[in-house]
Amino acid sequence: MSNKKVGLSDTMKAKTEPKTFRRNPIIGTKFTIAISSAKGGVGKSTFASNLALALKKMDLNIGLLDADIYGPSLPKLFSINEKPESDGQKLKPILKYGIQCMSIGFLTEEQTPMIWRGPMVISAIKTFTQKVLWENLDFLIVDMPPGTGDTQLTFAQEINVDGVIIISTPQEIALQDVKRGIKMFDKLKVKIIGLVDNMCHFIGDDGKKYSIFGEGGVKKAAEEFNKEFLGEIPIYPNIGKYGDLGKPIVQSLPEDKASKIFINLAKKINEKYKI
Ligand code: ADP
Repeated sequence: MSNKKVGLSDTMKAKTEPKTFRRNPIIGTKFTIAISSAKGGVGKSTFASNLALALKKMDLNIGLLDADIYGPSLPKLFSINEKPESDGQKLKPILKYGIQCMSIGFLTEEQTPMIWRGPMVISAIKTFTQKVLWENLDFLIVDMPPGTGDTQLTFAQEINVDGVIIISTPQEIALQDVKRGIKMFDKLKVKIIGLVDNMCHFIGDDGKKYSIFGEGGVKKAAEEFNKEFLGEIPIYPNIGKYGDLGKPIVQSLPEDKASKIFINLAKKINEKYKI
């Protein structure tokens, strides 16, 4: 019997070693874009929902999949209380603000904790990507959970993802995790479209700029890893307010300067895929 010790790093290596993955396409969409962040609370879901709405405003067909099994936010962000119907084989997404939406939160009670182990999460992700009746989408936007866990690995290895956008705040602690995230997607050969600096600064009533979480860190991380820096989104209280009201700012106040930032980012992303 071999007495070679298998350390955690070996296990991790085996899990993430690049090989040729057989990635299944998601039926019903032209492109799938994952919105990822290394840490929670950096504004990933806010970005995903406003980006989806901004793309919709460009007359594209958009789906929004909330893949955060442990902390779904789409029911609250889009104020959805219905349960999806099934045609006997597939779940029908819920149409809200013109967007086809799916979330584990539509199937559970609001405060039910998801005490699931990895294999159940993986199976839920497969259901959401293979057993949902996405119809004629140009883009499916996937709001990933934070970090580099089972969901990310399942998407990176088993599902055809056309690109990932990484959201971060500029704090050092968030950036460290961002670098881990970049390395994971690079290693698994999933294209990183670029990085977005969210909550980069706040402009006070005095007109002064306050860089609450530091400055320039996300751009620097992008440069370090030779990735595109897609842009920055300041802290606007209205972004938080309208997210909490269940009608994100791009839907509530499309002419607001904050909405225009999301709309410009959406244009930039759409240009890359030329729809
Ligand atoms: P994550 O999905 O990364 O956990 P959320 O999208 O839930 O983060 O955002 C965390 C909190 O920060 C929410 O209350 C959200 O409304 C708020 N928020 C996110 N981005 C901004 C922003 N640019 N300006 C103001 N508030 C924001």
